[in-house]
Amino acid sequence: MSDDNKVNRRDFIATTTAAAGAASALGAAVSVPASAQSLLAPPPGFDTQKPLIENWNRQLGDLVDVTTGLRRDAPELGDPAMRDRHKIFCYLLMKLIVRFWNGNKRGPLGSYPLRQAQLDRPQLPEKPQRYRGEMMANPGGLRVNWDRYLGHNIACIAVDGNGEIIDFDFNHNDFFRSSAEHAESRMVRRLFSLTDVFDGWKTGRKLSDKPHIASLNDVTLYTSLESCAQCSGVMSLAGVRQIIYLQNDFTAYKIGNIMYNLANRGAGVDSRGDPILDWKGKPVPSLPGAPIPIAGSEIQLDEFKKLNDANMAFARDILAAKAANNLNGAFFVPDNGKPDFDPSITSFLCTDVALKIFQDGAARLDTLTLDPASRDWRFPDKPDNKQILTNQDCLDKAKEFFKYADIEGYRGSPHKL
Ligand SMILES: [Zn+2]
Repeated sequence: MSDDNKVNRRDFIATTTAAAGAASALGAAVSVPASAQSLLAPPPGFDTQKPLIENWNRQLGDLVDVTTGLRRDAPELGDPAMRDRHKIFCYLLMKLIVRFWNGNKRGPLGSYPLRQAQLDRPQLPEKPQRYRGEMMANPGGLRVNWDRYLGHNIACIAVDGNGEIIDFDFNHNDFFRSSAEHAESRMVRRLFSLTDVFDGWKTGRKLSDKPHIASLNDVTLYTSLESCAQCSGVMSLAGVRQIIYLQNDFTAYKIGNIMYNLANRGAGVDSRGDPILDWKGKPVPSLPGAPIPIAGSEIQLDEFKKLNDANMAFARDILAAKAANNLNGAFFVPDNGKPDFDPSITSFLCTDVALKIFQDGAARLDTLTLDPASRDWRFPDKPDNKQILTNQDCLDKAKEFFKYADIEGYRGSPHKL
């Protein structure tokens, strides 16, 4: 940091209040003395960035609100057939999470008062009780019941522009001893490596003179938890078309919505320099560009509210249990050591309550029947493109994909063709 900046940072701290916020911080970075003036316009260089200019003096609430953006960029959400299509993939995602469910966040031994339904089969008297890991639905099966925790019960699937499922991935924080191995980021990196090798998916339209597809602007990601800043950034750099999420993450600070409103999405151009148009003749955005953030409530997914409500109840109850030192309300009680009263969402996503919501959602993949108006519906509804799947095709393929993942998939291994 230069001496000028040091001085200015000190001025900034001394002369501004919390209300000045990020605006003055940017002013300090370009050696403009902190003053009320710096609040009125972006600093030089940033003052040509259209979304930044338009939003510079707006309230935070306006930057979080995506109502206008959704109407502009995803008007098809008003169509019940489109919502059905998204629901199919949400139910598949829930079924995959149930299949690979592992709530042993603190290991398979000890006591989890909120996970009594996940206890393993009775052990011999001389063996300690254990909690089941994966293979929840078939704990007595011949396949391995992994009880080592690899990462949280958070997963993501990717679907291409035709409705073909490309792959799925899970959070693998524990496996990599990391706090950043999130499902969406892993999924995006996987997609780029897969699309370098295989050409079967419609992941995007080519941009400028790049020899390969370098953007995922036809890809929709379905994730079980609202994306964090890292994943929103990775998806933005990758040009992912949209992200649909099953539950709020109250510690993600709506960053995906804010990035979407502020990202500088211009019109993408093809190898001839012409604007790339979608099937309606609208320009396909250039990079970077944050994905359209679509909450489960936008597609009327019942599980969205259930998961949010249950998560808030979990946090409230566990803090009350901590205050009362009530071990029956703890997340985890080790045989030796301190009980765990952490109200984190990743602990909630281990509990019986969360598992039940995911199981109910998962069951809908098998019971869902599409009405005639929805069954034959395709998106985009472009009659000359035979490859685009109908909703019924999507449902059939989702069931097939689950069968594949159940036998071959492991916890988000690359998709074997
Ligand atoms: Zn993330």
